[in-house]
Amino acid sequence: MIKNNNLPLKKIKIIAVTKNQNINVIKKAISIGIKEFGENYIQESIVKIQALKNYKNIIWHFIGKIQSKKTKIIAQNFHWCQTIDREKIAILLNKYRPKNLPPINVLIQINISEEKNKNGVYIKDYKKLAESIYLMPHLNLRGIMAMPAINKNSIDNSIQYKQIKTIFEKLKKRYISVDTLSLGTSFDIKKSLIATSNMIRIGRDIFDK
Ligand SMILES: *Cc1c(COP(=O)(O)O)cnc(C)c1O
Repeated sequence: MIKNNNLPLKKIKIIAVTKNQNINVIKKAISIGIKEFGENYIQESIVKIQALKNYKNIIWHFIGKIQSKKTKIIAQNFHWCQTIDREKIAILLNKYRPKNLPPINVLIQINISEEKNKNGVYIKDYKKLAESIYLMPHLNLRGIMAMPAINKNSIDNSIQYKQIKTIFEKLKKRYISVDTLSLGTSFDIKKSLIATSNMIRIGRDIFDK
């Protein structure tokens, strides 16, 4: 819970990003009460998820780039997928989600900086993708994820935070299931919270000395 003059009192989820961290590090994190973990690489994450199967309360978020051939493994093993950026991936996740599991929670990754080499759907295309995801029975549309451009030298990225906030508000109004804005890493926590983020993905600030 965070409270200051700019920020309303609200719940903020922290996802511990454990890419490149080993199982013992994750166990240690679990032992101090961390329950939600973000992973980027399928091979690496499956080993960890299997090894930690007995910890029933752990929630796994896939936050890496998605290849179509990995959608089945994601659908079978993760509680959340934060990086959907095209309909094809949504269709496959919906198809492969085991029917005995609840729908997988999904976020649409938006390429808010509109850089060619970045993942995410362009702003002009997110509505169509949201509509199609919303209609898929084994996906639960929870909101959006984004990584604004790093604020280097003279580049001002504050407009991107404003845009993402606006997109989130629009989506929330339209879809009752939408409640999550996954924005912010170790680099930009404050800016993200001001942009009404309620899910922060932290790697370095938790695990690096
Ligand atoms: C690695 C990663 C993070 C965490 O970044 P840190 O700088 O280590 O806090 C968050 N989100 C995504 C998508 C990542 O790949």
